[in-house]
Amino acid sequence: MEIEVKSQSDNEMVFIVRDAEVPFINAIRRCAMVNVPKIAIEDVNIIRNDSAMFNEVLAHRLGLTPLVSDLDALEGMSLPEDDDWDVYENGIMFSLNEVGPKVVYSKDLISSDSKIKPVYDTIPLVKLKEDEVLNIEAVAKVGYGKEHAKWMPTTVCAYKQYPEITFNEDEEIDYDCALACPRGVLKSDRRSKKIKILDIENCTMCKSCVRASANGYINVGFRENDFIFRIETDGAMPPKEVLLKACDVLGEKADKFIQFSEEGGSK
Ligand code: SF4
Repeated sequence: MEIEVKSQSDNEMVFIVRDAEVPFINAIRRCAMVNVPKIAIEDVNIIRNDSAMFNEVLAHRLGLTPLVSDLDALEGMSLPEDDDWDVYENGIMFSLNEVGPKVVYSKDLISSDSKIKPVYDTIPLVKLKEDEVLNIEAVAKVGYGKEHAKWMPTTVCAYKQYPEITFNEDEEIDYDCALACPRGVLKSDRRSKKIKILDIENCTMCKSCVRASANGYINVGFRENDFIFRIETDGAMPPKEVLLKACDVLGEKADKFIQFSEEGGSK
């Protein structure tokens, strides 16, 4: 198996996996979504909320506010499956104490741990009118996407098989098929009497080009064992860390399964 990284930024990564199987790629995708630990606000104690927003909605907004959860932030924190796990002992305390008129932003959340804070400063949480008070205490903890979407590190985690475009050279060139492409993958070049493929990885395999070609000049398929994989995160952790952790988790699961089957399966 071969991996080629096509692009990478703080919260987005696109890579190509060659010579792999669908179940393996899908297992990585699922592990990245639901088995990678992330920090999010879990318990909210609303001491006073004069705003028009219901307490439940406010607690929900706080839970979905992305908090820094990279390897550095997670280091030393116990996980829900650990024996010594206790939400209050192991959690990170946050507080909000604001008086209107103002818009309360994520940057107003005061954290007990300088490493663990909102990823973005400018997420509006609630609007307070003149003299309205908001006083909140909250606890953030480590969790997994399988429990709640707020602990899901990925906002996009998807793959597609690598597209393959071929032309039927026995037929006359049909330039209409290039015009039908909504993604700019194809370009008609009447001078050289060719249809050029500009960016095959941008092809969604929608087959608009195939339908537009009356004589069946173009065919769109895919390579069975090559994949284009995209991971986007909410900024809580870099996509590369998500991918590496997902691979570790899958490896551990495979080890457990091997051990289980070697021990006879039913024990
Ligand atoms: S399948 Fe769709 S995206 Fe791909 S080349 Fe044809 S029209 Fe463009």
